[in-house]
Amino acid sequence: MNCEEFRSRLGEFVRGELGEAERAEMEEHLRVCPDCRAEYEREIRIEELLSGVERVTPPQGLRFEILKEINRLERKRKRLRPLVRLAPAFAMIFILLVSYLWLRRPAPAELEAAAFQVDLLSPRDKEVYLPDEVKVVAALYPERDYRYRIYLDGEDVTSESKHIDGTILLEPEGLDEGYHRVLVEIEDRESGSSAEIDRVFYCMGGG
Ligand SMILES: [Zn+2]
Repeated sequence: MNCEEFRSRLGEFVRGELGEAERAEMEEHLRVCPDCRAEYEREIRIEELLSGVERVTPPQGLRFEILKEINRLERKRKRLRPLVRLAPAFAMIFILLVSYLWLRRPAPAELEAAAFQVDLLSPRDKEVYLPDEVKVVAALYPERDYRYRIYLDGEDVTSESKHIDGTILLEPEGLDEGYHRVLVEIEDRESGSSAEIDRVFYCMGGG
């Protein structure tokens, strides 16, 4: 008997399931082969451990649930397989898209975000604005260097505005009731990108 044969019958041997002749062969191999003896001792320990474990009857339906899950995973894997094969193509498209967007380099997000808290001031409708005082507020990143100009009804009112801690504030007084237009041009000096915010609002007199 060689080691391979010995190990293929080891389980049955340990559980005493072999016939007389086979058992004798196994015992003979055990005597001459230290490797298989070690394996045999390990198997004995495992059997001992298992015999100490209480047999538990799985709850009804568990087997069904497990099979169902296996089936589900199997189906999912099959479904995903074509996608996995296309992954390099997707990766390439993604890289091209990112490169394209990077090269186009639109106004950075913070400028877009700055476009604009004017909306905040006219929450119901961009074109209707009710309070008696008009405030134009642009929240910018305080640590960045912006250049901006504000026009109200085509007139440059930049000098009337304040720029405090990243906030541009304009409080024009004496606006007539009616539609007005505010235009803010902001340029991020670091990146050179710029954004333009153009809003029409309605002022309800009293100002
Ligand atoms: Zn052996």
